[in-house]
Amino acid sequence: MTVDHSPAPDQRSGAGSRSAGELPGPDIEAEWSRAVKILDGAAEICLACHVRPDGDALGSMLAVAHALHGRGPRVVASFGDLPFEIPRILRFLPGTGLLSPPDAVPGRPAVMVTFDAASPDRLGLLEPNAAAADELIVLDHHASNTGFGTVNLIDSGAAATAVLACELIDRLGAQMSREIALGLYAGLVTDTGSFKYPTTSPAVHQMAARLLAAGIQPGAVAHELWDRSPFAFLGLLSAALGRARLESGAVAGHGLVWTTVTRGDRAGHRLPFEVAESVIDVIRRTDEADVAVVLKEDDGGRWQVSTRSKGAADVGRACVALGGGGHPLAAGFTADGTAAEVMLALREQLDAAPMAPADEAGTGGVGAAPGRSRDAGR
Ligand code: AMP
Ligand code: MN
Ligand code: MN
Repeated sequence: MTVDHSPAPDQRSGAGSRSAGELPGPDIEAEWSRAVKILDGAAEICLACHVRPDGDALGSMLAVAHALHGRGPRVVASFGDLPFEIPRILRFLPGTGLLSPPDAVPGRPAVMVTFDAASPDRLGLLEPNAAAADELIVLDHHASNTGFGTVNLIDSGAAATAVLACELIDRLGAQMSREIALGLYAGLVTDTGSFKYPTTSPAVHQMAARLLAAGIQPGAVAHELWDRSPFAFLGLLSAALGRARLESGAVAGHGLVWTTVTRGDRAGHRLPFEVAESVIDVIRRTDEADVAVVLKEDDGGRWQVSTRSKGAADVGRACVALGGGGHPLAAGFTADGTAAEVMLALREQLDAAPMAPADEAGTGGVGAAPGRSRDAGR
């Protein structure tokens, strides 16, 4: 069976019908020009990335904040979470001092730019501000992006939003400083899974080379993002791994492995929600399962669900059907109810999710053709 990963026609950007990696030149050129013109002429620019930001969302936004800073306009950068907490693993990024809580963002911004958000609801508390903005520039790489901006810079073939942020920064004529490079590198390395996912093209490595030349120390970034955690994390990981279930017959026989990380796992040690984020990277190692799932209970008692596929199932479609979003190989959604109920609903969607043929699965076999937009990034 062939799977068409391009967005449905009614989901396509108003600024031209775009499918993965097939951006019509004149249209996208016109969008870039409009974006630069709007930003060059603005007295105040509001930046917003998706809620509970990851390295791509926050890194891309901070890189653009640095590039705009000092060029004249007032820059307000935020994300729509309250309490407003910058994930601890991202606090090493330069420029977190440039961030403001969402209530500091004007209710009706003249110009707003969004980062790594596939739909307006991913902006959380800043969704109404985006809806009211006179000009809304959407920078994103999710195939499911609805093109909700007045200017849509959306490329589902891009490995990360950071790739688009880099293009914007270049087009603004800003110099590549170490601060800018660090934000962009955090986005690139996060969404390519440290240059492991199939989106890791020669162009990705060329961009990485340029960022390293600007002064990035890759080992130091990797240490901050993945190679450290409080001792109590080991207990949480142990509890989550101990609860893992393998369902070999699920996903049409391709196998499913899943577990939970509850508030209880975190409470005793006052661990923040974000420590649960890395559990999926251990769970998804399981050879016997194509699909890996982690249900992470947030502080409000809702499940934030992470899903990953090795190529047999389109988890992006399954998650979109459950009100979430993401990419074919990495996606998520938010749910209420018991873990068993959530898994029941997800299994149903996974069984219904069309399977990609093995040779197009984008599992990143060595030498996989670059430019095919099997986008496993986040
Ligand atoms: P994560 O599992 O959190 O690393 O996210 C994987 C991908 O799914 C990213 O592209 C996220 O933006 C997307 N995603 C995760 N959770 C949600 C959600 N609740 N709603 C929409 N998209 C999500
Ligand atoms: Mn991303
Ligand atoms: Mn993201």
